[in-house]
Amino acid sequence: MSSSYRKVCVVGGGPAGLAAAIALTREKCDVTIVDCGVAPMDKACGEGLMPDGLAALRELGMMIPEGVGFAFRGIRFADARSSICADFPNGMGRGVRRTTFHELLVRHAMNVGVSVIWNAKHARVVEKGVSFDCGFIEAQLVAGADGQNSQVRRQAALEQVARERQRYGFRRHYRIAPWSPYMELYWGTSSQIYVTPIASDEICVVGISRHPKLRLESALRTFPELYARLGNAAPASPEMGALSLSRRLRSVRSRNVILIGDASGSVDAITGEGMCLAFKQALALGRAVAAGDLRIYQRRHRELMRGPQAMASLILTLERNGRFQRRALAGLAETPEVFKALLAIHVGASSFRDLCSWRLLDLGRAFLAA
Ligand SMILES: Cc1cc2nc3c(=O)[nH]c(=O)nc-3n(C[C@H](O)[C@H](O)[C@H](O)COP(=O)(O)OP(=O)(O)OC[C@H]3O[C@@H](n4cnc5c(N)ncnc54)[C@H](O)[C@@H]3O)c2cc1C
Repeated sequence: MSSSYRKVCVVGGGPAGLAAAIALTREKCDVTIVDCGVAPMDKACGEGLMPDGLAALRELGMMIPEGVGFAFRGIRFADARSSICADFPNGMGRGVRRTTFHELLVRHAMNVGVSVIWNAKHARVVEKGVSFDCGFIEAQLVAGADGQNSQVRRQAALEQVARERQRYGFRRHYRIAPWSPYMELYWGTSSQIYVTPIASDEICVVGISRHPKLRLESALRTFPELYARLGNAAPASPEMGALSLSRRLRSVRSRNVILIGDASGSVDAITGEGMCLAFKQALALGRAVAAGDLRIYQRRHRELMRGPQAMASLILTLERNGRFQRRALAGLAETPEVFKALLAIHVGASSFRDLCSWRLLDLGRAFLAA
């Protein structure tokens, strides 16, 4: 390993910061995380881990124990007229309560030797490391993993945005047995709702919309199938909101500072890819540090973001045009092979290049006929 990055400070101990710290510790770095909050941290999130995210976690040495969360086999799309589902080609996904998952990740990080300082306020990147309200961590590399409103990003002058779109997400848990082995995505005219099974008696429901004033309860009423299924299920958590940003930065690296996770740009929540991306970025960071060249990280980061960004753009384009969305869904329902292929691309098991043109022609025909 290059000795130039022996000591690392990670600002932010969410999924991205913890994964980065684990990856770097495995490369024999001495890593300290400083976080302004206290674990376990909750956040509005769909709580779905895709199979490729779980594979990246395994590479980081972390297995989610049997019996924790709920395994789901694929994705189902539905609107008022059509529905379509497909299994993941590369294993199962897993829904896990955010706080449970955070606890597991923190425990794994500490087991591999990461030091964590919680409740560390006013973290600041300074010349030889990171200072905060009650201390200083010497570091040759600082990783900004402090989420969407990253202060590290501002301090390192990495704020330049290439593209940004904003929506609003709301999450609530309900005490009810999952009725489907799939993560379900319901498409409406003013919002989308997705449902992740997270335990044998609990689901996580997220509503996403461009309208900041829309709340989950009123959004749910516009999806009669889902509303009926929920019936009298008791809410198992208060409603929690968050911004769902699609943001691409011009750069995620500046001298001895790198950005990771939501701090380094994000894809719309509907993709369910945020944490998965963070784990893959962490693995890329580990390799770049082992090679002593952070440019490797910058390049790989761009590659990793490309697929989910394209998928998010496609979904947002559909979402802005109700008729187009209805036709696309009806078209996909008529061409299950295309849906299956798109899902395989989404979870990293295949690429757009593998999508045969005759399949797209089929989709085009079904779209026009819908
Ligand atoms: C509505 C919604 C649904 C989503 N659903 C899914 C899903 O189903 N699957 C999925 O994979 N992803 C999903 N995501 C995305 C996912 O939640 C994020 O991508 C993920 O949380 C990013 O992790 P992170 O560690 O980068 O940031 P965060 O989770 O935001 O963690 C940032 C950490 O930094 C700390 N911090 C912040 N500021 C400072 C500071 N100044 N100093 C020190 N510490 C600081 C915070 O306390 C926190 O611990 C969803 C997002 C939204 C909004």
